[in-house]
Amino acid sequence: MSVLLWLVLVTVPPPQVVMIATPRGETSVPITTERGTAAVAALRLGAPLGLTVVLDGSRATVGLSGAVFVFQLGAPFVRAGGVVYGLVGEPYVARDSVFLPLHWLADCVPRAVGGRYRWDPAAGAEVGRLVELPVASAVTAAAPPGVVTTPPPASSTTPAPPRNPGPASAPNPITGLRLRHTVVIDPGHGGVDPGNPGRYFPGHLVEKDITLAVGRLLRAELARRGIGASLTRSTDSLIDLVDRGAFCKADCDLFVSIHVNAMPEGRRADRVSGVETYFLSDAKTEDQQRVAQMENEAIRFQTGTSSAPTGPLGFILRDLQLNEYLRESAQLAQLVQDSAARIHPGGDRGVQQAGFMVLTTARRPAILVETGFATNRTDGAFLASSLGQHKIASAIAEGIVAYLLEFERKLAVAAPARGR
Ligand SMILES: [Zn+2]
Repeated sequence: MSVLLWLVLVTVPPPQVVMIATPRGETSVPITTERGTAAVAALRLGAPLGLTVVLDGSRATVGLSGAVFVFQLGAPFVRAGGVVYGLVGEPYVARDSVFLPLHWLADCVPRAVGGRYRWDPAAGAEVGRLVELPVASAVTAAAPPGVVTTPPPASSTTPAPPRNPGPASAPNPITGLRLRHTVVIDPGHGGVDPGNPGRYFPGHLVEKDITLAVGRLLRAELARRGIGASLTRSTDSLIDLVDRGAFCKADCDLFVSIHVNAMPEGRRADRVSGVETYFLSDAKTEDQQRVAQMENEAIRFQTGTSSAPTGPLGFILRDLQLNEYLRESAQLAQLVQDSAARIHPGGDRGVQQAGFMVLTTARRPAILVETGFATNRTDGAFLASSLGQHKIASAIAEGIVAYLLEFERKLAVAAPARGR
């Protein structure tokens, strides 16, 4: 070894890292200074923080804990909730990855996401530590720290963990949920079935693109809350309507189908706007029948290789399941609708009932969210924007958590000795 090389080895400092400390564990994320100022790869923050990134031209939209940060590549500022924050350093793309200034994480995140994060400067190779704090509502349960276990986020291909695998454990510090839960997300349409053409979506976007984007974000939002989630489709592919619900089997708690509404051509078609959530029953009104018919039309794209039971026995089985979960489905629909209506620019169209084929084959409480109207200018722009998609996904996740908390409360009432 030459003296020169030896000098290099001893004088190069160890790579610096930022520590991400959450109730789910600690992760060290490397820092790079390749562009002069400290930056971290957004991808490395995805798993520990549930951070999501959508790159759209020179704009990077980052979702974190329900907040949305809009960056411009090469610009030293970020916008969040109508406030512009100055940054030391600029976001950039390198090696197919978005890099964000460390200053954003250390300074902007604790300020912009009220009460959720704290920045601690640290010693040694760490430049600091971002600490995620439990939400206020989850602090009520007196669980010793460090014993909380959270299921890893399920990908679309890994099988879900068994439902309620053991006695009730310490509550999840983010949600207050005590049991492991699994949700099946169904992004409507796909492949040769585009869904509705999306009159007010920019470019060539159609319903199937929006439902897939929202579905993926919903999976990330649920994973961040410790809830396992899988997608009936994670690509632009088509799944038979009757097979979609079958994804939700014994190990699945509930089924959520994501769609975008459309009004038929007419004088007032573009005036109708807003979000509505359906659960299954016989359609009651003309409008409900219209939506059910529209979504059921996808059956004409079917390949005919369905595994769902047919004939009189299949019908009776489905009818029984339907009645068993009707009340739960209605409650789930209400909680998701309440949450989504709070953030939707188009207004609250309430909980609706209709006979959707996709819901009849689900073996658990099942709802269908019509996230807005592609035939309305405001709704269309909202649903096509990454900000809108983040907001709707986060709101649906909040509604699901509210339902699961209620579900666990009922379980505890029904079996008070459980786990003791
Ligand atoms: Zn649809």
